[in-house]
Amino acid sequence: MLSLRQLFLLNNAQTSSTPRLLEIERAEGIYMYGPDGKEYVDLVSGFAVSNVGHRHPKVVQAIKDQVDKYMHLAVYGEYIQTPQVKLAEKLVSVLPSSLNSVYFVNSGAEATEGALKLAKRFTGRSKILSCHNAYHGSTHGALSVMGNEYYKAAYRPLLPGIGFMHFNNVKELDLIDTDTAAVIIESIQGEAGVIVPDHDYLQKLRIKCTETGTLLIMDEIQTGFGRTGKLFAFEHFGIIPDILLLAKGIGGGMPLGAFVAGRDIMDSLKDNPILGHITTFGGHPVTCAAGLATLEAILDENMMDDVAEKEALFRKLLQHYKIREVRGKGLMLCIQLDSFAQVEATSKACVENGVIIDWFLHCETALRIAPPLTITFEEIEKCCEIIKKVL
Ligand code: PLP
Repeated sequence: MLSLRQLFLLNNAQTSSTPRLLEIERAEGIYMYGPDGKEYVDLVSGFAVSNVGHRHPKVVQAIKDQVDKYMHLAVYGEYIQTPQVKLAEKLVSVLPSSLNSVYFVNSGAEATEGALKLAKRFTGRSKILSCHNAYHGSTHGALSVMGNEYYKAAYRPLLPGIGFMHFNNVKELDLIDTDTAAVIIESIQGEAGVIVPDHDYLQKLRIKCTETGTLLIMDEIQTGFGRTGKLFAFEHFGIIPDILLLAKGIGGGMPLGAFVAGRDIMDSLKDNPILGHITTFGGHPVTCAAGLATLEAILDENMMDDVAEKEALFRKLLQHYKIREVRGKGLMLCIQLDSFAQVEATSKACVENGVIIDWFLHCETALRIAPPLTITFEEIEKCCEIIKKVL
């Protein structure tokens, strides 16, 4: 009989020739457990997803309760489904008043797709600007606005009319003009290796977008839901986007995404043509029930309160002669090393020592640190000890 590992390699599509091949039997809080009972700290939150930890009890209960009522009923936007309505209401209540219409999808890439279409439809323009080293997903539209030619070249032709500017470069904001439908940008670049922009960069970007009638699409798929110490990272910069992208942490471990805009903008998907964006499963009642429980858990359990202190502890403890820099905001951090060889070896040895860390799509010389917000100060200390020992 073939082992699970052999079957995985045989029948499951592979995305690289060096998968991590970690077998996990169950997960709870910040921990994952292998079939042999080995305990791992998930220091990357399943790639910025498990902000409330794995299998948060309130999320699990909400899923069970909803499964007992109904699962899929109809395509998105036709029936009144309580979990969708309640989650949209809750999201709107925690967002600035101009972001008051929520379109639910299943993933981050789909949120990107929907937002790009919405911006083109609303403005009647087709030019889109993105940033070098940006990551917004892997479908054709999202890939078109990815800022790394290595991943795109083999899939061309992609969307026409896409331009790129350097993140955090004020001069290049001049590329935004009255032909530009939208700028799509991460509030803090994730896969670029956690690049936090200057405060006035995003403010100047906001002004330029407003001046030219360009919609500002902010991708908070990785930064959202408390990860940086605020519910959404744009709050740190005193700006409000026109379209907000959410996914990953929003579902508490379930596949959920959303793009959020003002009702006036979103309404342009309603006619000429009608059904401007269609999804069968977007806003699935079970994932929305999980999403609502996730948001309530973050707020009711004050999970964001000590994120800044936890960041400070990581920064204090991660002092080592091989560490060039610890970058990021809140619990979206990275450890800058010198080479990919170091990153690969450190990450592999950390996993062997029960701490899961990883690297980034566009930055292979830094290690990703993005634990569940529920990680305790003692757990941070233990993890940092292991990382330093391994280094
Ligand atoms: N946007 C950002 C900033 C991301 O980090 C990701 C995924 O890593 C995506 C979009 C795409 O999300 P998904 O993998 O759910 O399609």
